[in-house]
Amino acid sequence: VFVAFEGGEGAGKTTQARLAAIWLRDHGYDVVTTQEPGATKIGMRLRAMLLDRDTTGLSDRAETLLYAADRADHIANVIKPAMERGAIVVSDRYVDSSLAYQGFGRQQRVEDIARVNAWATGGLVPDLTVLLEIPPRTGLDRLSAPADRIESESDDFHERVRTGFRALAEADPDRYLILDASRPQGELSREIQYRIREILPD
Ligand code: C5P
Ligand code: MG
Repeated sequence: VFVAFEGGEGAGKTTQARLAAIWLRDHGYDVVTTQEPGATKIGMRLRAMLLDRDTTGLSDRAETLLYAADRADHIANVIKPAMERGAIVVSDRYVDSSLAYQGFGRQQRVEDIARVNAWATGGLVPDLTVLLEIPPRTGLDRLSAPADRIESESDDFHERVRTGFRALAEADPDRYLILDASRPQGELSREIQYRIREILPD
């Protein structure tokens, strides 16, 4: 079982992924929590390169490929091995982040990003993707420190990312749970639990 959490900056993906993992472990499941970019040794190097894009002038296409490389390594070294031993994998970000940020955000063709990622992932698609939906300004204000480079992107960029995430989720309601991330944390985690319960093995 593979569950991904997606959404813009400050939506609470990390928090909700952690709460879901705690809940699953309480119910006796073997759970691996992970995140993108940067879950592997190579991934950590790629993450440093990705977050430094402003000083290096990293091109949009190269950025797309580095995210895809991070993902391929993530699958090979973390996600696949965990799934093969029967663990539930909970990932903070996955392919939809690339479709939303590199596709909608940087205005590269979304079909191209999808094709690159279909190859990079070998077609591995989550059983459930939780989209935490939040207006970009609200999300950015929630972040305590102006942490990573993407926070320096324009409001328009973040609006495109948000619209992109929503379009992806609305196109495939069976695979997505769309939640208003401004709701109380406890309510959100309960809704996530209900939905995860439907895809759990007995
Ligand atoms: O989720 P996290 O904060 O670790 O992501 C690091 C940064 O990388 C964020 O600012 C996020 O917006 C950006 N990002 C991106 N494209 C992706 C995934 C993350 O621009 N595909
Ligand atoms: Mg986070």
